[in-house]
Amino acid sequence: MVQNALLPAANTSLGLSLGVAQSGHAHTKVVATLGPASERRIGELIDAGMSVARLNFSHGTPDDHKRRAALVRAAAAERGVPVGVLADIQGPKLRMGRLQDRERRLEAGEHLRIRSGPGPAAQGELCFDFDGVSEALQAGHRVFLADGAVELEIEEARGDQVVARVVRGGLVGDHKGVNLPDSSLAVELPTAKDRRDLELARALGVDVIGISFVADAADVRAVRLLAPGMPVIAKIERLSALSNIAAILAESDGIMVARGDLGVEVELEHLPLVQKSLLQAALKAGKFAITATEMLESMVESSRPTRAEVADIANAVLDGTDALMLSAETAVGKYPVEAVATMNRIALAIEHSQRYYDLPRVVFRSSEPTFSNAIALAATDAAGALKLSKIVCFTETGNSVRLISRYRPSAEIIALSPNERTLNTMTLLAHVRPLAFPRLTSLEEMLALACERLLERRWVTQGEELVFVAGVPPGVSRSTNVVKLHRVGERIDLH
Ligand code: PGA
Ligand code: MN
Repeated sequence: MVQNALLPAANTSLGLSLGVAQSGHAHTKVVATLGPASERRIGELIDAGMSVARLNFSHGTPDDHKRRAALVRAAAAERGVPVGVLADIQGPKLRMGRLQDRERRLEAGEHLRIRSGPGPAAQGELCFDFDGVSEALQAGHRVFLADGAVELEIEEARGDQVVARVVRGGLVGDHKGVNLPDSSLAVELPTAKDRRDLELARALGVDVIGISFVADAADVRAVRLLAPGMPVIAKIERLSALSNIAAILAESDGIMVARGDLGVEVELEHLPLVQKSLLQAALKAGKFAITATEMLESMVESSRPTRAEVADIANAVLDGTDALMLSAETAVGKYPVEAVATMNRIALAIEHSQRYYDLPRVVFRSSEPTFSNAIALAATDAAGALKLSKIVCFTETGNSVRLISRYRPSAEIIALSPNERTLNTMTLLAHVRPLAFPRLTSLEEMLALACERLLERRWVTQGEELVFVAGVPPGVSRSTNVVKLHRVGERIDLH
């Protein structure tokens, strides 16, 4: 840790202490999308604070994903730290077909005929490369093109004749994205491509599946069937997903606040409040959440972020996000490692503030009346009352760790598991540091070996008081039933 020079007096009257620059990895996790800019620098990304690597199945070939997954596993093994791999499937992304001249500027007030088909679109018309256009679009519906750059309004929809007026003009090009927030278009999820990608993701042994353009809980269930036993993240980026959020949360392990597409479907000025509500809803439901898109967009080109980006990341951390995501910044940007390091640094600074620890804690006792949840709450309270800095949790499935993490204890949760998949999945949870640990047969042995291993790594000190969470008998899933307070170095005798 580096001691800064003296701070201006104004800081103290604000009740802030900014004097110590924090080092190490933040409690809030960083998800970095891999791409040409970063696939040869994965070790550096991990060292800078990447906790989860994202494979974006909207881009790249099966060989790209295969190579990148292998590179992540190799870099993680080299460092002896768990790193999660998230396969993000494209879902029913709607796109325009081709235009006559690849690009066209649409002027406000202009009228265009819209039809289904791959194009090329003639003068005065637009082709949408999906079926059902004339059935789904009705007079008054809004249509957004090219990530919201252009807005149309349907003026007439009779039979095959669909005519739109350009409300906000701009440039569109071949295959640009289409968003139809007001229309109920019958789209299938998973698509044929998603099915192939899910098969590949499973073959690659990825840890988590991200599902794009979820509309309702049935979409999540349909993907789950093709990825049995794997945690799934519903990306919230459609208006319909907002209406169905409770059911989607119930069906998912976590959600992503996918601000890119969501910011097209909801008015941009509503996005900050939608983000806060989604993050809170996830925490209350006992699920995790990732905040994504344009978090450090300027760092695609610049080695330093804008002030507004720094504030955005800080606010997402204060909103209680588990993880922050980088997309283009690390996939194709000029400063992938710096982007991860910057995100990590901002999160660390916020986490060391009183404001962060003053956030209201969620209590979801009633929604999960289980031993594990009661133990999680007890462990959190014990660590808080004694001001302890570590909760050490032995876990098979990661369930008890998830629960403790939802309570956001001020202590860090060291999650010890013999199960590699569990370790990799826990990399998404705020405040959790996963570590591989053998499967032992008695609680005494587990406590003794854990103390030894944590001392070796200097994660704890001799004489430090710890909260242990375990299930007895050991090695059984969903059996958490013990909270044990223990001073490192003291004799362990449970008889
Ligand atoms: P994408 O999803 O990067 O796959 O589009 C995230 C978003 O829309 O914000
Ligand atoms: Mn998206």
